[in-house]
Amino acid sequence: MVGNCECAIIRAKMESLITEKGMRTEIIEDLAKFGCCNLCILRYLGNTEPYNYRKDEKLIEKLLFGELKKKNDNSCSKTGGRKMETDEGVEKENNLEDQDQPSRKVLKKSPCSVCLGLLDLKYGASDAVLDKIAAAVKEANIQAKSYTINLSLPIAVQFRAYFLWYHLVEKFSKIYNLYSMMKPESVCLKNAWKWICTHRLKDKVDPDSDWVTDGCLMVNISLKYEDDESECQTLGNQVRNSSDRRSKSNGLSRGGVELLFKDMTTFEFKRKFGDAPPIPSNFLVIDEICCTHIPVLVAGRYCKYSRNVSQTPWIVDGKRFHDASVEELIAHVVTPMMNADQVKFSASGREDVDVRMLGRGRPFVMEVISPKRTLFTTENMKELRNKINSSTKLISVRDIQIAERKAAAKLKDGEEFKTKTYCALCRVPEGIVVAEMLEKLNAMKLPIVLQQQTPIRVLHRRSLATRERSILSIKATPAKSPNLFKLRVQTQAGTYVKEFVHGDFGRTRPSVAEILECDADIVSLDVESVDFHWPPSIDD
Ligand SMILES: [Zn+2]
Ligand SMILES: [Zn+2]
Repeated sequence: MVGNCECAIIRAKMESLITEKGMRTEIIEDLAKFGCCNLCILRYLGNTEPYNYRKDEKLIEKLLFGELKKKNDNSCSKTGGRKMETDEGVEKENNLEDQDQPSRKVLKKSPCSVCLGLLDLKYGASDAVLDKIAAAVKEANIQAKSYTINLSLPIAVQFRAYFLWYHLVEKFSKIYNLYSMMKPESVCLKNAWKWICTHRLKDKVDPDSDWVTDGCLMVNISLKYEDDESECQTLGNQVRNSSDRRSKSNGLSRGGVELLFKDMTTFEFKRKFGDAPPIPSNFLVIDEICCTHIPVLVAGRYCKYSRNVSQTPWIVDGKRFHDASVEELIAHVVTPMMNADQVKFSASGREDVDVRMLGRGRPFVMEVISPKRTLFTTENMKELRNKINSSTKLISVRDIQIAERKAAAKLKDGEEFKTKTYCALCRVPEGIVVAEMLEKLNAMKLPIVLQQQTPIRVLHRRSLATRERSILSIKATPAKSPNLFKLRVQTQAGTYVKEFVHGDFGRTRPSVAEILECDADIVSLDVESVDFHWPPSIDD
């Protein structure tokens, strides 16, 4: 990552160590002979200053070869490998002999053997390439506060980096052996490209935009290399052989390549793959540019007024079990408004289908995937709330707001701590005079500590265990019929209220039935509050 790379300090040491040991010129010459462009030379010297990569081409040339040229003024043989990299001006300076011209011209067309032209201002870092990317970003037409570039490179680039690294380790072991944690590149190629291109791309897209490492709009750029497959054939065989025991996958992945080379010695590498990669004849080109916004989180609270609406869709073998779901009712309004692909719903716990969710509602978060409209005012959020509320009578929402991912994580954190208030309409057998026995419940010492064995009705999805849960308050009042009463309880998170009433065949103790010494059952149940402080209330 640009800017926050842990290895930045130790990398800086690499460059000074090289200078200290007086090996700078020798290494530069060698990198050039290997076919590195000037910027890749900077990279493998361990230069971590972004501004150096943005310098004028001639200045970089001077930075690297200034001394070299003075020293070798009259012997071009020593800078032989540089021929393909020098431009017209430098050529004259070096007094290249005329007969060198044809071969130099041919060689000059070859891209850098490490970055395959990615850092070349005439190819991978050219204005034409950046124009193409900028056009794709504009074409995507996605609102965004900030942008992040993700480059995806062919495996051949990674493979070539290993070639060079093993070469350097062999030739300059005093330096490169010390930095095995950087293997296979002293400075990431992707970072170098971003140092050269990001500010230019920003100017093309929108000079006021923010281009950072953790932006909202991901500009995913994948590059392709015509000879990728042919160059990586041997590599592919090696990776497949070595990973056969671990995975059946035939694809060549970065991780697989990394694993293969993790402990491989230079000797082994050279025996398997040879001394150097082939001289490339093709440049990297853009394969695809794909822009996608990170998920936007819409938080709020919902109430559910129906006893035939589930929280999330419940569809088995294409058969729908309930009228609707809270998730769908909200998604039907949110998805088109944010021009998104899809949504993921999560809530702070759930109530059963036949349980109403009343009061201020239950906190939820809707994760909106790949939205195109992403910037909203408080007013917009009120409109969204109103739109959802006028679209259905089955549910309602409040406190609708855009949430940060960090804050939304609280939704799950809070699950263990929140308390809930329920109102249950309970029934006892005909002929039992309710009013007198309710005093028994109201006189219970608080908290009432329950031992709850996993209820029979949820055994298929929860492991069998006995859990201790508390009833924090209890209030029983008579209802319209003589054998009915209302029970209002505040419970610790995770308490099964239905089981607390009927006892679940003795699996929950004590229970209302046990306390009253008669059968007791629930006619209907409402959640009256989910006592959780997030998301912040805005509709009061
Ligand atoms: Zn790093
Ligand atoms: Zn290069």
